[in-house]
Amino acid sequence: MKMSIRGPVRVRFAPSPTGFLHVGGARTAIYNDLVRQNLGGSLVLRIEDTDRERSDPAMTRGIQEALAWVGVAWDEGPHLQSERLERHRQRAEELLTAGAAYPCFCTPAQLEPLRQEAQRQGRTFRYPRTCLSLTSEAVESRKKAGAPWVVRLRMPDDAIRFSDLVRGEMEFAAEVLDDFVLLRSDGSPTYHLSVVVDDIDMEISLVLRGEDHLSNTPKHVALFRALGAPLPRFGHLPLILGTDKKRLSKRTGATSVEEFRDQGILPEALYNYLALLGWSPADGREILSRAELIEAFDLERLGTSAAVFDPEKLLWLNGQHLWKLPLSELLERLEPFLEETGLPAAAGTPELGVVAGLHQVRARTLKELAEQLRPYFEDQVSWDETASREYLAKEAGLADLLAELAGRYRQAEPFAKEELERLLRELAETRGVKAAALIHPTRMALTGTTAGPPLFDVVEALGRQRAVPRMEDYARHLARLSPQEVGAPAEGG
Ligand code: GLU
Repeated sequence: MKMSIRGPVRVRFAPSPTGFLHVGGARTAIYNDLVRQNLGGSLVLRIEDTDRERSDPAMTRGIQEALAWVGVAWDEGPHLQSERLERHRQRAEELLTAGAAYPCFCTPAQLEPLRQEAQRQGRTFRYPRTCLSLTSEAVESRKKAGAPWVVRLRMPDDAIRFSDLVRGEMEFAAEVLDDFVLLRSDGSPTYHLSVVVDDIDMEISLVLRGEDHLSNTPKHVALFRALGAPLPRFGHLPLILGTDKKRLSKRTGATSVEEFRDQGILPEALYNYLALLGWSPADGREILSRAELIEAFDLERLGTSAAVFDPEKLLWLNGQHLWKLPLSELLERLEPFLEETGLPAAAGTPELGVVAGLHQVRARTLKELAEQLRPYFEDQVSWDETASREYLAKEAGLADLLAELAGRYRQAEPFAKEELERLLRELAETRGVKAAALIHPTRMALTGTTAGPPLFDVVEALGRQRAVPRMEDYARHLARLSPQEVGAPAEGG
């Protein structure tokens, strides 16, 4: 049976700074943020940097930046685990003194054949407790002789049970657990020791982490008990799979928070999306702000099945959040993407607000939006050659018709969408063609594509100076592409 939790809670997010913040880690951080905000209490940020070789201070900074960007608010820390090694050792010494842990002199060379044998027989390797029965004299004389030794926890002889917030009652038989190492022969604490001592000292009341840690939890439970500390509650979040149903990896696209940021995903959309990977509100809403997610969050509704990370769904959700942004906010967020697209001059111009507003509902990311704005601020557009050649150039007389429309637009007064629409429809009618037959090439001429916001908004936003010459150029281009001209020498212009 799952049991609920009342606040306030003390939760933690404990990343290892060995790489960028991955969406799996971000999801864990977000769930801890949601619980803490929903129930009250504190979220502690702890950097588990004890693996000196793989940890990188730049990553520690990067992870904090990525957390802050996505909207996770921690109350304490970052605490660096590497600064607490002495404390971890001290707690292991206490266990040694109390007889709850013991020194082990077995060398890796001695244990390796046993490990291999266990593997051959398809069972879990368990340390055979060779050194558990050593007398204190034997221990002392081996230490004096300089033999290397590690410290192992003496595991209880019974099964380990705990209740998991996601998976309910868990039981691990004693046979699958062994007396694991707390201190290595160089005196350094293992991950299991550091994490438990820190969770005790930081008074963590709920450990909410990824399912990949589930097999560690019985060890941690035994260690909490040996250290005489109350058990926190545990919750293990289901794995995140890629669309190929395998564990999420680079194979199926971006995986780090930084990559999504650089693609123009909004932080609130990523937060929203990740919050729904393993939980959903009772009323089925999908588009929620952080505040709404916090309000709706309920630990009792955590799901057990693996969640699939679907980039298309994220893009859709991002589009929804993008669409909701007030224009001033949109422009602010868009600025770095405009700069990246090479359109710095556009930022802050009045037209920018107009055209960004026109395209706001059509872009799924800030990057896409910036790309869509190119035709408004660049002198040249590149026309879709396939569509031009395959469809538009095959319409007899279209080039002339477009040139004629350009002429009328040159004289249009005012150069405003209602008048521009009237002129186009009038021309279509006098020539006996459908308005659509003129709308498509005009859009292509002006924006290089066959889809976009309402055409007359686009023409008005471009303005006479840009729109008319572009239509004339494209009319000439179409004339060159027309079947009767194929094979003729290309003209300039
Ligand atoms: N440092 C561990 C990791 O990055 C997390 C440990 C924990 O949450 O207990 O996977």
